Amino acid sequence: MEAIRELIKESRKIVLKVGSNVLSDDKGVVNSENLKNLVDQTMEFIKMGKQVVIVSSGAGICGVGAINKWTRRDDISYKQALCAIGQVELMLGYKEAFMAHGVHVAQILLTREDFQDRYRTLNMRNALFTLVDEGVVPIVNENDSVCVEEIKIGDNDTLSALTANLWNADLLIVLSDIDGVYDKDPKKNGDANFIEEVWDIDGLLQEIDVFGKSDFGTGGILTKIEAARRVNEYGASMILLNGKKQNILKDAISGEAKGTVFFPR
Ligand code: ADP
Repeated sequence: MEAIRELIKESRKIVLKVGSNVLSDDKGVVNSENLKNLVDQTMEFIKMGKQVVIVSSGAGICGVGAINKWTRRDDISYKQALCAIGQVELMLGYKEAFMAHGVHVAQILLTREDFQDRYRTLNMRNALFTLVDEGVVPIVNENDSVCVEEIKIGDNDTLSALTANLWNADLLIVLSDIDGVYDKDPKKNGDANFIEEVWDIDGLLQEIDVFGKSDFGTGGILTKIEAARRVNEYGASMILLNGKKQNILKDAISGEAKGTVFFPR
């Protein structure tokens, strides 16, 4: 789509949100080839002179991959423990993949409280700006091991929008397992119609059905649309793309990718 190509061309600061589904294979295990492919494509942005911050899910499934004896434990403390273990695995994956290009990565773990405190917000902003200015790729995730339900942001769609606004990004790219927004869930409705461009989110929400959640994701399509609303309010655009497709970012750069673009009014 030409609109996607144009938007990427004119955006300098890009936040890339990577869903667990994008990194995992059919069994729900993080696939190192998927991760490497994603990092190789991110390097295309960097080679074009763009700055990139990644917001990545996947700590939970990486934890299960590392220690599978806890898979049936439902207690919240075990879930947090799994995320703590998996976060290391996830970052190791990113570090190795970026190091192949001579690029350093940095880990930033955030909670909702961090965004509510002016002092912390300022510190986070400074850290982000410094890292990116020095050519390092920050990789942001929610700090799951200190977050209980009451203080959780809860999904990385929202976290990626908050991060985009904090860093004054021009563009948020959300990679999910779907080509974009349809008027109803295309996994359940063969006749769902694809929506290429959105200028009015309230209008969109009146026209479409947003039910259904995929196996490993936590947000659903509604949190993606609400993330778009957040960045649009700050004058940035959002593109929703299918990260399950090989070379989706390269295709986006060349204008061949299908996706939904949310423009600020
Ligand atoms: P992620 O794990 O990447 O955050 P989610 O699984 O949380 O993604 O959300 C994307 C899913 O939302 C899609 O795979 C799709 O099945 C579902 N969905 C429900 N309604 C819609 C809709 N109107 N348009 C597109 N996807 C929809």
